Amino acid sequence: MTKQDILIIHGTDYKEMAKQILTRADVAALIGDRDKQVALKPNLASANAPSTGATTHPQLLAGTIEYLQEHGFHHISVIEGAWVGDRTDLAARAAGCDKVCRTYNVPFYDLQKDSWKEYDAHGMNIRLCDRATAADYLINMPVLKGHCQTLITCALKNNKGLLPNAEKRRFHTLGLHRPIAHLNTLIPDSFILVDNICGDLDFEEGGNPVVMNRVLGFLDPVLCDAYVCDCMGYSPDDVEYIRLAEALGVGSADLSAANIIPLNEDCLPDRKLEMTRRVRTLAAYTAPKDACSACYGSLIYALDRLSDAGLLRRGLPPVSIGQVYKGRTGEIGVGSCTSCHQKHLNGCPPKAADMVDFLRENWAE
Ligand code: SF4
Repeated sequence: MTKQDILIIHGTDYKEMAKQILTRADVAALIGDRDKQVALKPNLASANAPSTGATTHPQLLAGTIEYLQEHGFHHISVIEGAWVGDRTDLAARAAGCDKVCRTYNVPFYDLQKDSWKEYDAHGMNIRLCDRATAADYLINMPVLKGHCQTLITCALKNNKGLLPNAEKRRFHTLGLHRPIAHLNTLIPDSFILVDNICGDLDFEEGGNPVVMNRVLGFLDPVLCDAYVCDCMGYSPDDVEYIRLAEALGVGSADLSAANIIPLNEDCLPDRKLEMTRRVRTLAAYTAPKDACSACYGSLIYALDRLSDAGLLRRGLPPVSIGQVYKGRTGEIGVGSCTSCHQKHLNGCPPKAADMVDFLRENWAE
C-alpha cells in the first residue's frame, strides 16, 4: 500500500470489513517486528454509543485485534482519553470497547490518567501522553463525522485524544487548527482505519447519524481528511488544519493523485433504519429507491451543505437516487442510475462535493 492509496469497503459485517482492509493493506508487514508495541486509538471522545454517530464501533476494534493476534502481535493495547467533561471509562463502556478488550485480553489505557511529557512539535510545544509515545505503531481509528467548530473531524483531530486534559483545553484556547496540525508532526507511524459506518452530520457527540456502512483505510492522515471533506461536501480549503498539516509535511491533501481502491461494491441500505428528525428533514428533498448506502449518505451530507447555505426551500423537485431509476426518465437525479433523467449527475457513487455543485446549479428555481 502507498500513501496515495484509499481503501474502501462496504457492508454491515464490520469486524470482517476491518480485517479485509488490514489484510489488503498488509498492515502486519507495515508494522514489521512482532515484538513492537501496537496501540489502537479509537474515538471515544464522549460517552455515547456508536449508533449515535459519535464513537468507533467495537466490531472494528475486535476485527483489528483479531487480525493483529492472528499475525503474531502480542503487545497490543487500546489507548484513549475522552474529551474534557466526560470520563474515559464511561465512554469506553458506552461504546462497548471495554468488553472487546476483556474478550481479547488486551489492556485499555485511560489517557486522562496517564503521565505526559512536553515535546517540540515543529516550533510549538505540545504535551503528549506517555502511552502514546511508547507505541511503536499506532492504528488510528477515527469516526468520519461533522464537527461544529472545525466542520469535519477524522484522522488528524482524533489524535487530540492522546493529550492530557489540560492540553486539550489549551488547544481550544488556541483555536484548534494550528495545534492540531502541529500535534500530528509528533505522531508515530500509523495506519488509519476510518469508521465511516454512521458518523454524525455535524456534531462530535453524535445525535444525527448518517448511515454509510463503509470502512476506509489510509496511510496518510492529511489525504484521509481531505477525502473526508469530499465525502461531506466541503473543500479541503474549508478546514484550516488540513492545509496547515500539509505545510508542516504531515502528508498530502492532493486528491487528484489519490488511488481509490474499492474492495467490493456498495450494498443496499438497511430498510429498518431509523432517521432522526434532522436527517428526515433533509431526506424530504430526496426520492430514494434502492439507493446504495454510501450514495444516499453522500446526498444527505450534500443537502446539509445546501441547507447551511440557505438553499433548501419548499417546492424543489425531489432528487431521484437509487437503482430502480435505471432506464427511467425523471426531472433531476444523482448517480449513474439516474442517467435518463433530464438533469443528472454521473458517478457511482458521485461525491458529495460534486452533488453540492450539481444541485446548486441545476435545481429548479
Ligand atoms: S449510482 Fe446507483 S448503483 Fe451507483 S452507488 Fe448510487 S445508487 Fe448505487
